[in-house]
Amino acid sequence: MRILIIEDEVKSSEYLKKGLTSSGYQVEVSHDGIDGLFIAQSGDFDLLILDVMLPGIDGWSFIRRFRERSQTPVLFLTARDTVEDRVKGLELGADDYLIKPFSYAELLARVRTLLRRTPMRQHDIFAIGDLEVDILKRRALRGGRRIELTNKEFALLQLLLQHQGEVMSRSQIASQVWDMNFDSDTNVVDVAIRRLRAKIDDGFSVKLIQTVRGMGYRIEDPLS
Ligand code: CA
Repeated sequence: MRILIIEDEVKSSEYLKKGLTSSGYQVEVSHDGIDGLFIAQSGDFDLLILDVMLPGIDGWSFIRRFRERSQTPVLFLTARDTVEDRVKGLELGADDYLIKPFSYAELLARVRTLLRRTPMRQHDIFAIGDLEVDILKRRALRGGRRIELTNKEFALLQLLLQHQGEVMSRSQIASQVWDMNFDSDTNVVDVAIRRLRAKIDDGFSVKLIQTVRGMGYRIEDPLS
């Protein structure tokens, strides 16, 4: 498993590198946002650990550009303990975040969790209950039968699958599927979910797409 650390503080990046190397990972380090983005895009990494405050380009711009091409998990390191910053990181496509200072044990636990999700992303095939989705072939099957989806429905399904078991808020969905900002009318999300549900869940006794009242939506096999 290969990890790229993008962090300008030499002491802390060396500390992380030493720890993760001894935990069995192959680790590369970059101290600059632009250089780090280049390495991240040209290398085959399983996980990125990304500091927000960086020379070159900051972590926000980094992740915005990185997400245009890659689904590799990103763990954000932020010193700024505000809800807005954390939400912003997650909305832009970070998979998790840690607030500095953090313990190495805590980082390692997050890294392991994120890497456990990786195999599904690498092959771009998701299986949940009797639903099978092949991202590259843009094909969805339920109970072995093909489901025809529009581009937006497919993007929505993909987003839910990439966050399997997690509740996705309407604003997260709106920003990642429609590129709409936080304050937009997110009724479009409810409408799209309803259409997706009609195709994925109607006629099946097991409902995979669930509404979490007051919070958002998630996809999960209720039987697993
Ligand atoms: Ca920094």
